[in-house]
Amino acid sequence: MADVHDDDGKTDSARLILSLRSQGVTDPKVLNALQETPRDLFVPELFQERAWEDSALPIACGQTISQPYIVGLMTQALQLEGWHRVLEIGTGSGYQTAVLSKLVRYVYTIERYRTLLSEAEARLKQLDVQNVISRFGDGIDGWPEQAPFDRIIVTAGATRIPPALIAQLKPNGRMVIPVGPNNATQQLMLVTKDSSGRVRRRNVMPVSFIPLREGGARPLD
Ligand code: SAH
Repeated sequence: MADVHDDDGKTDSARLILSLRSQGVTDPKVLNALQETPRDLFVPELFQERAWEDSALPIACGQTISQPYIVGLMTQALQLEGWHRVLEIGTGSGYQTAVLSKLVRYVYTIERYRTLLSEAEARLKQLDVQNVISRFGDGIDGWPEQAPFDRIIVTAGATRIPPALIAQLKPNGRMVIPVGPNNATQQLMLVTKDSSGRVRRRNVMPVSFIPLREGGARPLD
């Protein structure tokens, strides 16, 4: 693993965690999950030296692995409990999936590139992660057979919140999703459903994600 000690004795991962904490990711369980997830495993060979930098990096199929700060912030906003079943749309490298898997009972994750999905599955297997159920397909429709979910996280930018995802959120559920026009900055939105099923939306912060393909997005190799 590329977690090496620098001149001042801090490891790359410890340095990253300190930086995330200073930026407002303060939940100790979330910080712990981030520290224990070897990001270098999820980053392509070419970018190994930057694996513990706080930046998004390119992965296969023209997609990106999310910035650790954003992964931390979204994970924290979900207010996860150990018994939760979480739906993730956009597996990508599987990095966010691995972080979630340390915090909840089950993670259901959907990806529309077969290549990315099988690479992510191999990484999760290598880490001996056993509570992730993954599927190839279009996440816009959610995962009706496994619904409802305690929490939902969308890691691609949507032009609007897919109605199926709202429907598949349990009462007292929370969803985080970047929403905005394609090829522009999105707003990270927190969607909450109260015990009587009433839905509220709140803006959290501006973010920049790869677009969520909508309207019959074809699953791809
Ligand atoms: N969380 C990932 C980042 C993924 S980037 C990580 O940490 O690595 C966004 C991912 O969403 C891409 O892999 C993209 O292929 C996927 N995606 C986009 N639209 C989708 C859709 N409609 N259904 C499922 N996955 C989708």
